[in-house]
Amino acid sequence: MLWLRIKYRLGLLYKTILFKLGLGKFLLKNRYGERILIFHGIDKTGETKYNSRFISKAFFEKFIQYITTHYNVISLDDFYQKKFKKNTLNIAITFDDGYLNNYKYAVPILEKYHVPANFYITTIHEKAPYLWADFLDIVSYHTSKKEVVLERNLYRKNNKNEFLWNGISMKNVAKALPYDVLKMIYEVFASDWKTLPPTTYEDYWMLMNAQQIKEISNHPLFTIGAHGETHASLIDIPLAEAKQEILNSKKQLEKICEKPVTEFAFPFGYYNKELAHYCEEIGFKRILLVDYNSKEDAKNDSWKNRFVMNPYISMEQQLACLLKGSYF
Ligand SMILES: [Zn+2]
Repeated sequence: MLWLRIKYRLGLLYKTILFKLGLGKFLLKNRYGERILIFHGIDKTGETKYNSRFISKAFFEKFIQYITTHYNVISLDDFYQKKFKKNTLNIAITFDDGYLNNYKYAVPILEKYHVPANFYITTIHEKAPYLWADFLDIVSYHTSKKEVVLERNLYRKNNKNEFLWNGISMKNVAKALPYDVLKMIYEVFASDWKTLPPTTYEDYWMLMNAQQIKEISNHPLFTIGAHGETHASLIDIPLAEAKQEILNSKKQLEKICEKPVTEFAFPFGYYNKELAHYCEEIGFKRILLVDYNSKEDAKNDSWKNRFVMNPYISMEQQLACLLKGSYF
């Protein structure tokens, strides 16, 4: 991990120096191919103090404007049908999690530039108004609590606003918790959430409601896919529960959209063959990942890896990494 981090930093440093020397154009040339991009949240300012996945709407617009001018931005349908252009980068756009901020900030920009996109929705709505990770990020940042107990373990807050027990963050523990246990986190921080007030931070946690999901689903540029029910790491919770999450998220979205939902994106990109095959068995035609677990998985035409946007780097660096297809 440390070596990867050093390599990553050196890679960025090298790119920054080239851009400073005015030689950045060499990084943006002749590195072509196909990429499916993943965006998460879009906010007004690109605030990363609550999580590391949000970019500003100004950056988003600049980026969309650039890629639609210089590259071939296509729908995921066309991407799967390999309707690629040669000698350019072919790009499809996806959003994970189902944030309201996608609807508020990203959709108008995508419409303005006529860019198709697919939205993978976590269907937690019936159980909670937020995803547990965002709840935890926001309360951890604002709470005055220094210690909390979860499942008899004492977690202490560090200077990065994370609660740790034996060096493990509560967020990492939570990924693998069945939802009934996970709910205890909401109870532990219930009074903190109440005093926030949460509406001040709604861009960082509020999810789209059923009506907004349906509106996106009916839009000619956009497609809705599933992303699990509670955003648990499906490979870490009991198998029966993981299958239930996958099936329920499909059913709930089909009820909302009144049409078949045939795409599934694994939360955190964590998958295994058994779960991916289960997705196919129940009618998902496209399985969206982050990284393939093996070279063999890359041969499966309906499974696709995706490229995660990085909010910590400049637009030039982002483009250079995107063209390379890697941050290293
Ligand atoms: Zn997600």
